Amino acid sequence: MNIRREIRTLRRSIPQDVKIVAVSKFHPAAMIKEAYDAGQRIFGESRVQELVSKQQQLPGDIEWHFIGGLQRNKVKQIAPFVSLIHSLDSERLMLEIEKQGAACERVIPCLLQVHIAEEETKAGFSPDECLLFLKSGRWRECPHLKIKGVMGMATFTDDSEQVRKEFRLLKSLFDACKEQFFPDNPSFSEISMGMSGDYPIAIEEGSTMVRLGSLIFGER
Ligand SMILES: *Cc1c(COP(=O)(O)O)cnc(C)c1O
Repeated sequence: MNIRREIRTLRRSIPQDVKIVAVSKFHPAAMIKEAYDAGQRIFGESRVQELVSKQQQLPGDIEWHFIGGLQRNKVKQIAPFVSLIHSLDSERLMLEIEKQGAACERVIPCLLQVHIAEEETKAGFSPDECLLFLKSGRWRECPHLKIKGVMGMATFTDDSEQVRKEFRLLKSLFDACKEQFFPDNPSFSEISMGMSGDYPIAIEEGSTMVRLGSLIFGER
């Protein structure tokens, strides 16, 4: 894998306003440093322990995103530095993020993870639950947490029409949330969708942030 070349090729082919999250989970810090030296600054990790250890070893201007299932008892470890949590999917998790954000005097940016795939196993709110969560309004009482948009994963399949349909669903849910709950709030602006196997479709359907792992770092 030529990490530098992959980063440059992707940066040239992906529209400038779409952010690239380099998903570095299970890869060593040395490979992250290679991507960093090629100009990459946003990295995504899915395990708390691994994220904390890499954050300590690597340059301070990296934006670390958390993209995996997040246990409440581990929020405390990433709260001081995490740039974006992609996996907010319950009120209890929100309350813990609020608490830990307050403890380190930060506002922690988060995305609402929404289940859009056919597969049963993926985490996240259903689209209806997502709207109900926003409707409840409890997030408005959490000044140390900022909801910046939505995140979703499409079904792992070769059927590109299926994948497209799911990304469209996430985009239309984003639009509905924006209109109903964030009409005057420009910071509700992110749609995190698209991985190595489906990111071109995600971008066509309105992604603002793609999460690319194997394409950049090779197989895990
Ligand atoms: C691992 C992972 C990715 C990256 O997957 P690739 O197929 O390697 O690009 C993206 N998003 C999430 C949530 C992941 O867990």
